[in-house]
Amino acid sequence: MTLRCIRGGRIIDPSQSIDQEGDLWIEDQRIRGVGNKQTGQPYDVIDARGMIVVPGLVDMHVHLCEPGDENNETIETGTKAALESGFTSLAVMPDTEPAIDTQSSAEFITAQAKRAGHVNVFPIGALTKGRKGEELAEMGGLLEGGAVAFSDSDRPVANAEIMRRGLEYATMLNKAVLSRPEVEELTRRGIMNEGNTSVALGMPGIPTAAEQIQVDRDLHLAKWTGAKLHLQSLSCEGSVESVRRAQAEQVPVTAEANPHHFILTDVELRSFDSNFKVNPPLRSERDVRAVIRGLKDGTISVIASDHSPFATELKLRELDEAPFGIIGIETMLPLCIKHLVHPGHLTWPQLIEKLAFNPARVLGINRGTLREGRPADVTIIDPNEEWTIDCQRFRSRSRNSPFHGWTVRGRVAMVLVAGHTKYVRPGWRATEASLERR
Ligand SMILES: [Zn+2]
Repeated sequence: MTLRCIRGGRIIDPSQSIDQEGDLWIEDQRIRGVGNKQTGQPYDVIDARGMIVVPGLVDMHVHLCEPGDENNETIETGTKAALESGFTSLAVMPDTEPAIDTQSSAEFITAQAKRAGHVNVFPIGALTKGRKGEELAEMGGLLEGGAVAFSDSDRPVANAEIMRRGLEYATMLNKAVLSRPEVEELTRRGIMNEGNTSVALGMPGIPTAAEQIQVDRDLHLAKWTGAKLHLQSLSCEGSVESVRRAQAEQVPVTAEANPHHFILTDVELRSFDSNFKVNPPLRSERDVRAVIRGLKDGTISVIASDHSPFATELKLRELDEAPFGIIGIETMLPLCIKHLVHPGHLTWPQLIEKLAFNPARVLGINRGTLREGRPADVTIIDPNEEWTIDCQRFRSRSRNSPFHGWTVRGRVAMVLVAGHTKYVRPGWRATEASLERR
């Protein structure tokens, strides 16, 4: 038996309403408990004084591009990027080539993740075959292959009858359906948010109605079927309000926001920099405020990155030709600290709940918590270290971030996955002084 102790940090575990200074004990691969009363001689002590100790973070909306688009990202590079950014579990979207729509394709994802050996990876299965929206995928087989939820990813199911049956079948399997709401007919030519800036720049717009109409449809279907619906990437005021109303009526819906939608507005597109081109697009100041309000009052319970890597040569195309997407996993935690915790929108426990416990709950996975007996996935954060985001140092294969050069505060110092030290930030004091091997 190996006993380890992470000593003297501020331990935050929203799953048990813990926010206290103390010791976190780990026995072999599992959490043994929080507190000073544990007995036994620890094999090693990690000095976490001044640090924040949280459950390993969970990002439930990630595109890793393998198989099919390995020039943009691979499971190896994407999971390495996640690990060093404090994320110990990822749910990966099925929009690969081919799509993750069979048991064997889901098994391929978990096998590749195991080979990489960085973090836990949970595949999301496609809701329909080939993500074509015509015929339900082999959902039972996907479940056998390790899928933890179902989604057609960034090609939302247009046919309401197919969506209804998908929701009903997912309910029978006790899994959530993740929907990235968009009426494609309304967005087909669009490049950016439809509004004053798109008019001024003469760019085809993507109206907020395209998102909101689909949100409302999906909410009706969730209410009707009683299915567990999770709405991804909410970007506008109307969507947040619809979800808030539905939750008040006990519709079993959860919602998610991505950092760029509560930090940036469409005015950034004046630079014609394609790193600001994302779908759903950056919206207005008013929408940004609405997303933050949704995060504050709990309407939006999950923060995810929508990590969407694209090779530089693709993003260097003209704005109308460049693909939609931002890589987000390596900037997510510091940006949330800067834009949600520092201004007082969320407390640290509220942030960690949205980055760990809540996504794990939506997916029904055994993570995002420091409860006794659970896998010892732990992230240690130095809340005070100031640093500058440098895309050239990313572990991801791609560089398409609009946050290059931003100064942030708060950095991951150390990460454990199933009790094993998987990452220690070079230069962090624990590497010399506090990893006291006994
Ligand atoms: Zn996405």
